[in-house]
This record gives sequence, C-alpha cells and structure tokens, in this order.
Amino acid sequence: MILSDSQKEFAGAGGRLTRMETQSASQQAASQIDFEKSGGVVPVVTQDHQSGRLLMVAYMNREAFEETLKTGHACYFSRSRNRLWRKGEESGNYQTVHEIRIDCDNDTILLSVEQHGDRAACHEGYESCFFRVWRDGALHIVDTRRVDPAKYGPGYGHQPKPAH
Ligand SMILES: [Zn+2]
Repeated sequence: MILSDSQKEFAGAGGRLTRMETQSASQQAASQIDFEKSGGVVPVVTQDHQSGRLLMVAYMNREAFEETLKTGHACYFSRSRNRLWRKGEESGNYQTVHEIRIDCDNDTILLSVEQHGDRAACHEGYESCFFRVWRDGALHIVDTRRVDPAKYGPGYGHQPKPAH
C-alpha cells in the first residue's frame, strides 16, 4: 500500500500507534463514536501510558478525533476557543498516542499517551490537571510544578475559562 502524505508525516514524527490509519479508516473509526449525543463533542480522558495517571480531561469533535488518528498526536477541541486544539502547539507539551479506547456507550474516549516537552499536561505547569486535593474543607495543592508556564509567553493559558 502506498503511504499518503499524512501517513509519511506521521511515520516520521515518531508516533507510537502500531497501526497506521488511512483517512478512510479514521473516518470509519469516527463513525463508531456518538458525537451527536452532546452537541458534537465527546469527553476525552487522557492518561499516562506508563503510570496510568490521569493527566487531563478534554473534548474532541469528529475532526479532532480524525486528526488524532491520522497524526498520532493528541488533538482536542477547545470549547472556549471554539477551534481545534493541537495539544502542545504553543508550549511544546505535545502528546503521542499509544492507545485509544472507547467506552461502552461510544460517547467517551480514553487516550493513553506519552507526554512530551516539559512533561506537563496541565497549562498550569503540572504533570496532571488534578494537582489539587479536596481535604478538610479546602483545596490543597499536593503536586510539584514541573514548569512555570510563564516561560511559554504572557498570554499562555489565560484564555477565557475553562482555559483548555
Ligand atoms: Zn490543567
């Protein structure tokens, strides 16, 4: 089979998906997911492929899902910016996808990824967005920041909430 341009790009990018997806295959996969249930997007739970730690929760629309399959890099849909959010496009904290699972109702995606860059999935500079614990009636930060997000520029992460 002859590789399309996007597949060559994917192969060269060091993505870890074991099977290369053709465009029709990614469209076929997308058709398995119930995007219409919640107005065109589905929640995505993203975990570290080695530790299993929950890194972040975001959304994908059909286009973001297909791009993720084609490139092997996590691409989400930003509801606040109303556009595709290629994770790491500003910070370099991109994610290569090792596995994609779909839940029993076909309306939630589980991504297992390798987190690159400063290894901070969270725009606040933490490994995981879940760096706070509710305890004794208050939220406490219990993780150590991996990076000060100020290094990515003054506007980084300060979009209208939710910042993702
Ligand atoms: Zn976060």
